[in-house]
Amino acid sequence: MVRTRFAPSPTGYLHIGGLRTAIYNYLIAKKTGGDYILRIEDTDQTRYVPGSVENLVSVLGKCYIQHAEGPMLDENGEIYETGPYGPYYQSNRLEIYAKYAKQLIDEGKAYYCFCSQERLAKLREEQSAQGLTPKYDSKCSHLSKEEVEAKLAAGESHVVRMKLPENEDVTFEDGVRGTVTINTKDIDEQVLMKADGFPTYHFAVVVDDRHMKITHVIRGEEWLVSTPKHILLYRYFGWEAPSFVHLPTVLNKNKKKLSKRDGSAAVEDFLQKGYLPEAIVNYITMLGWSMPDGKEIFSLEEAAAEFDLSRLSKAGAVFDIDKLNWINSHYIKEMEAEKLAGLVKGYLVGKYDELANDETKLLYFTNCIKDRVSFLEEVVREAEEIFAEPKEVTSEEGLEAKAMETNPQLYSALVELLEKEEALTPEVMKATFKTIQKEYKIKGKALYMPTRIALTGEVHGADIQLIMCILGKEEVLRRIKAAM
Ligand code: GLU
Repeated sequence: MVRTRFAPSPTGYLHIGGLRTAIYNYLIAKKTGGDYILRIEDTDQTRYVPGSVENLVSVLGKCYIQHAEGPMLDENGEIYETGPYGPYYQSNRLEIYAKYAKQLIDEGKAYYCFCSQERLAKLREEQSAQGLTPKYDSKCSHLSKEEVEAKLAAGESHVVRMKLPENEDVTFEDGVRGTVTINTKDIDEQVLMKADGFPTYHFAVVVDDRHMKITHVIRGEEWLVSTPKHILLYRYFGWEAPSFVHLPTVLNKNKKKLSKRDGSAAVEDFLQKGYLPEAIVNYITMLGWSMPDGKEIFSLEEAAAEFDLSRLSKAGAVFDIDKLNWINSHYIKEMEAEKLAGLVKGYLVGKYDELANDETKLLYFTNCIKDRVSFLEEVVREAEEIFAEPKEVTSEEGLEAKAMETNPQLYSALVELLEKEEALTPEVMKATFKTIQKEYKIKGKALYMPTRIALTGEVHGADIQLIMCILGKEEVLRRIKAAM
């Protein structure tokens, strides 16, 4: 059975590339009826940001990328763990790593290293000065058993390093890159256990993937060069290695790694701005994978039905905000109006409370703006435009509309008709405009443009009848009278 995992480090937020990794792991498990799990790789305690696991679980949940095992959030927002292969936090698995490190040392596949930071720094400096790639010189692998025991007995600070075969090609099949070969002379004798008793990522990832019965490791391509070390560790333990798939990096417009500095790398920022989870997941799934029929709007279920690792792209995917905006506006337009109104409300509260708290007007507003925004935060701008005093007319088209002969008649007809109404509704507005067309013979441009000019000062914009319903009777009359 396929078992995949997303294994983020809890360093604060969920990167777009991280979500993509999670999605692909989720989809391949879903497609094959396997399990997708979440593991927290918190071996670097200096990078730990409190609250980030809660945040990760919450954001993944909002995006429907639900794991079967690992940390979960209860209704009070507290973390609990579920699944048979826990703990799912690496920091809670220290004894397991210690046991396996000991095994490698006993079998001569790893060794204690007592070199000081100063020595290592000096070594790196010398190697760099000679134009060499800095790597450990294996000094401690030559210590005698007695020397090692004496140092341990004296309590000398130490790490555990893996031994490497000299000048050996390590080859593996990567799901995206095909056959990859890296020679051990280009690899460092990696620290497996740090002086603080924590494992390094490289050691923990192998032990955990084995223990959690992971069959497919799908992760960012920054880990491709480390994979030979992992392969060797599998070999040292006599374990079968999982399949590896390294995903090309998500790039910004300048073809550099998308970073938080681009202002668009954290999934939570997009959620906050009012990108719908469905749209985010739809778009991110396409950053390196495509539907067989080229379809660009699809649900997670549709993607799961078609997902296939062989369709992963080899090229780095460029994050294109315009494309995401296009997809998001599609989902906004398609969303059921009442549900959308509920979301829109969240962006108006505290800014346009009267509108936010008036269910009927909120619905008019939602219908009025839903095909005008790319993300929901933009509804504030739309409300601003509607409620602001009419702009001063400066455009040629506007001045023309303002000077139309029929305007005095139009404005007094509007005032007369609307004053009779109790409230402005789409039905009332429709009937009013019809009466004006029929009885006053004011039609088309002569009707719509001057009306809009009176209400907003613009010649183009959102549905004017809905704008009138949103402004309400008093305000509409006030603006028309002012225009008169
Ligand atoms: N903790 C690693 C990361 O955050 C995971 C790499 C892997 O999936 O093996 O990138």
